[in-house]
Amino acid sequence: MPSRVGDTGGMGRSEGRAGCGTVLGTLVVVGAVIVGTVAASPQMDLVDLWTVTQVDRHDGEAGSGGEGYSFMATTSSGAPVTWGCDARIEIEVNPEGAPRGYEDPLASAVARVNEASGFTFVVAGETTDRDFDDRYRRTVLLGWADEDEVEGLAGTVAGLGGANYLQGPGGGGRAVGGSVVVDTDAGGGWFGLGGIDLEVLLVHELLHVLGLGHSEDPGQLMAAENSGQSELGEGDLAGLAALREAACS
Ligand SMILES: [Zn+2]
Repeated sequence: MPSRVGDTGGMGRSEGRAGCGTVLGTLVVVGAVIVGTVAASPQMDLVDLWTVTQVDRHDGEAGSGGEGYSFMATTSSGAPVTWGCDARIEIEVNPEGAPRGYEDPLASAVARVNEASGFTFVVAGETTDRDFDDRYRRTVLLGWADEDEVEGLAGTVAGLGGANYLQGPGGGGRAVGGSVVVDTDAGGGWFGLGGIDLEVLLVHELLHVLGLGHSEDPGQLMAAENSGQSELGEGDLAGLAALREAACS
């Protein structure tokens, strides 16, 4: 039985998701989180006041995307919401609770995502920040937590990831921050038999951060259920290309 690796939900308050009984955990992505409105800085080349919108779709936006891929959110014109073309997306790591040696899988995941997507994630350093919801500073917080702290990690959920979006009055949107939270006891454990590969999990979650939803094609890395695939499929790559085009056109 494939393991469920892709529910989405509101981070920190999504309901725990029942596992399917296998030892593998569940990757969960979250969209953005409603907090209110924020004033965007001029450097963001946005209008003065954008509304932080919640994207609370469990698998991405239904019907969006193309063959083998979907988007987390789209603008009023149908374009995917993603990061700016030249964004330097800094990942701040809170290492509390992280498995020993997490740095290598993280570096590999970042390199793979950057090469495949054309976007630029950078591991910027460590932090003690644990605010996984309130992310508007163009950084992505990566941390480890349990279900007591982050409710969405209950059950066999292995991780949560997503971006915060600002939505403009004209219907446009842009990712301005994000977070990835990994369960400290994800599923059957990290590197042991039956455990989820941390690098694969991080690639999956970072693609959610970029704006890809789940794929209905079980052969894609962005499939909601992982059957052991570890490489990006054609649908994943097509989705990333569409994000890149939207960001840079
Ligand atoms: Zn997912």
